[in-house]
Amino acid sequence: MSILLGAIADDFTGATDLANNLVKQGMRTIQLIGVPDAGLPVPDADAVIIALKSRTIPAAEAVAESLAALEWLQSHGTQQFYFKYCSTFDSTDAGNIGPVADALLDALDSNFTIACPAFPTNARTVFKGHLFVGDILLNQSGMQNHPLTPMTDANLVNVLACQTPFKVGLVPEETVVKGAAAIRRAFDDLVESGYRHAIVDAINDDDLMQIGKALANVKLITGGSGIAIGLPENFRKQGALKEGIAPTWPEVGGGAAILAGSCSIRTREQVAAWKKNRPALEVDPYAISKGEDVVALALAWAADKISGGPVLIYSSADPADVSRVQDELGREEAGSMVEDTLGRIAKGLVEAGVRKMVVAGGETSGAVVNALDVKALAIGPEIDPGVPWTSANTVTTAGPTEIALALKSGNFGDIDFFQRALDLLPGSSNT
Ligand code: ADP
Repeated sequence: MSILLGAIADDFTGATDLANNLVKQGMRTIQLIGVPDAGLPVPDADAVIIALKSRTIPAAEAVAESLAALEWLQSHGTQQFYFKYCSTFDSTDAGNIGPVADALLDALDSNFTIACPAFPTNARTVFKGHLFVGDILLNQSGMQNHPLTPMTDANLVNVLACQTPFKVGLVPEETVVKGAAAIRRAFDDLVESGYRHAIVDAINDDDLMQIGKALANVKLITGGSGIAIGLPENFRKQGALKEGIAPTWPEVGGGAAILAGSCSIRTREQVAAWKKNRPALEVDPYAISKGEDVVALALAWAADKISGGPVLIYSSADPADVSRVQDELGREEAGSMVEDTLGRIAKGLVEAGVRKMVVAGGETSGAVVNALDVKALAIGPEIDPGVPWTSANTVTTAGPTEIALALKSGNFGDIDFFQRALDLLPGSSNT
């Protein structure tokens, strides 16, 4: 058995988002958490996505982890490789998109890849190399205030050029609209002129399908999840995909909870909408830093509520509060302190009988999945663009336990996402 498409994702919700797009296009997809042990049997799936938590770690570590993931995928006969990052190109000044892409290219003995974070379904488009969120340039979209990866330049050619010693080119929209053959020619021209990376414009799904077609023989693709929608068709043409297999909803009993550690605009709107008439508890970073047992307090607060309906526990705060906390506690320190706390709350909630959990925030989801020691997610149907329900196994003091997880990137989902996600589960009595 071999893997058709093997992906390395730089965060957990990003991996799930990519999985969701592949499932929708008919690829059976498994998401693995962290670099798998060498002995892990190859999952029976068309696509395997290895979810790392490498977006904001030092570049050298991100490279090492990505190469280890690549090695596992290569050792299982993977045909094509994908490096998945955020549709808002989240990265620090030191990387990690450029360094990881370069290391993967070297390891694959390839000399060219594309970078395309466009995801038009979620209002991320790339035009003349500039990334838009809706009608707004990336650097005015709220992303300039991100707690870990502030994005202050929307020109992706510039952003990537700062992260790689190699030449970064552009395949503009006027080429993309001409279709796959023109896009392939543009790739060839760039390679001939010594470019190693190309930002590719894409403003709608037709563009993505044509780019996908043009990528059939490109060994490594880098991008958001959108660029994946054109790839399954290449495998279908080879006769390599099983047809007619639909993803299934996870079926679990037990309580439900939402954990929000994202400070993105959309998550804050979702938290505000929930708080109007549902139980919600705020986690205060200062209380954590003072050594208060925030985890125990949150679990005590939730204990008698879980049987009556879902609860929200959140640390989401507006940019002014976040920068105050960061100034006092340090950016990374504050982030990892809050992540650790939410992870431990997640573990306690599952111990207390929660089996359905919605998590808001990429890093936060990583922390929750790690705290629950989840190794793999089977990807189910979509809730909102970019976010599917998934099934996972964890272990509680009672033994192995199946849980349903919805891992949401901070800016994804409609305003009523939390409630709707829970309502979609079969036999749901969460309303
Ligand atoms: P997103 O998907 O929106 O990027 P993430 O979970 O990836 O969300 O990132 C949010 C980061 O902000 C996490 O590291 C989280 O721990 C941190 N964080 C959450 N709440 C606060 C807060 N009140 N103050 C400072 N940092 C916070």
